[in-house]
Amino acid sequence: MDTSTHPSALADGLQTSRSGELFGAACKLIPGGVNSTARATWSGWNPYPLFVESGQGSRLTDVDGNEYIDYLLGLGPMIFGHRPARVTQAVVDFIQNRGTVFALPTADEARLAQKIVDAIPSVDMVRLCNTGTEAVLYATRLARAFTKRSKIIRFEGMYHGFSDGVYWSKHPSISKAGPDNRPIAVAQGPGMPKGVEDNLIILPWNDAQALEDAIRREGDNIAAVLTEPVMCNTGCILPRPGYLQAMREITSKHGIVLIFDEVITGFRLGLAGAQGRLGIKPDLSVFAKGIGGGFPVAAMGGRADIMALVANGTVSMAGTYSANGIAIAAANAALDELNTPGLYAQLDAVSDELRSGLATVMADAGLPAYVVGIGPLMQVWFAKDEIHNYRDAERHADQKIFDVWWRGMLARGVLFHPGAYENLFVSTAHTRADVAATLEAARQVAAELARTI
Ligand code: PLP
Repeated sequence: MDTSTHPSALADGLQTSRSGELFGAACKLIPGGVNSTARATWSGWNPYPLFVESGQGSRLTDVDGNEYIDYLLGLGPMIFGHRPARVTQAVVDFIQNRGTVFALPTADEARLAQKIVDAIPSVDMVRLCNTGTEAVLYATRLARAFTKRSKIIRFEGMYHGFSDGVYWSKHPSISKAGPDNRPIAVAQGPGMPKGVEDNLIILPWNDAQALEDAIRREGDNIAAVLTEPVMCNTGCILPRPGYLQAMREITSKHGIVLIFDEVITGFRLGLAGAQGRLGIKPDLSVFAKGIGGGFPVAAMGGRADIMALVANGTVSMAGTYSANGIAIAAANAALDELNTPGLYAQLDAVSDELRSGLATVMADAGLPAYVVGIGPLMQVWFAKDEIHNYRDAERHADQKIFDVWWRGMLARGVLFHPGAYENLFVSTAHTRADVAATLEAARQVAAELARTI
């Protein structure tokens, strides 16, 4: 099929020329024309990303006036959709009446901490910061300080932010990444200080034996196992039954700190995140996209005896903007909203309707595709075989078909990230009517795909 890698437009019949013009102008000033890799041409926004005019609820409008049902949702933070009234009002009120940054604490911070501690049984104490990248950096440093060990196990295909210590083996070329059961660390690119990889052990995810083998080999040097509880950065991959339990058992046995990176899953798969939903208690956890209602705020918390090293100043967590007024006002309002009775049940019901509807569409069209997800997270895999880790995805998932699927959906007013390794996010603002419209678009695109492949 024709899947040119340099299309001249984003999608057939979609008028996006103003986005193209703005992109051309931006490229003269901003490297790559964008301020994050996930928006770049090489991440799928080819030949240019959409430029946004505004968002409201489940809808996003681009600068050419096209309106989309938005499942990109800012890559996750817009859990209530765009411009959620309660969060927006809380932030406006805080700025107008109180300020933004004080370099001193406010009572609001402890109120927020209490809400997080109440929601997450594994979190006794919590520190606040601004981004998932920072929160992961703090968690790994703390784990090293607590255990007095240096190595971190991380898994191929995951993303834990862009700091030097963990920006490795996200989506490496398999040919350069060593054997399947003992991958080698591959830097995201040049510029990483030499020797960082000596403190990383890269493993395939969903493979309890590989984890056990690595810990048997190097257990005394391993400070932490860092994992997403659901793999959300290579599409959506669920943990095999028993895998996270095995991880919990073996890390406990060897005094290794288990860190759950719940930047995506936290406060999205329920108030207690993936750990609550899947019934695993990590030692430290990281939250970000689910807690700010669209504002930059993150949290790192966990066991009191580990957090004690922050409490007594042994491990430093600084930050001029950490727990700034805007972040705290937003997160306090967001967590109050998330505590609305029935909110997650409703979010799951709408999401399930989308997930099962997409699965039916793919099956009815006879496409080699299936849908994987949990709660308001999901992705369509165009693959004949099962996918349980990054290398499965590399080997089995057809990125070219995904690209045609994505462009077809975009042309019909349904927006999600062009990368097959990203997710569709559903917000509390999405309605059953949104889902029905999405499924109608999907039926049309699937029929076209079935004719061409
Ligand atoms: N951890 C996970 C699982 C993520 O998905 C991301 C971002 O997508 C991060 C960490 C980094 O968070 P941030 O972009 O807020 O720095």
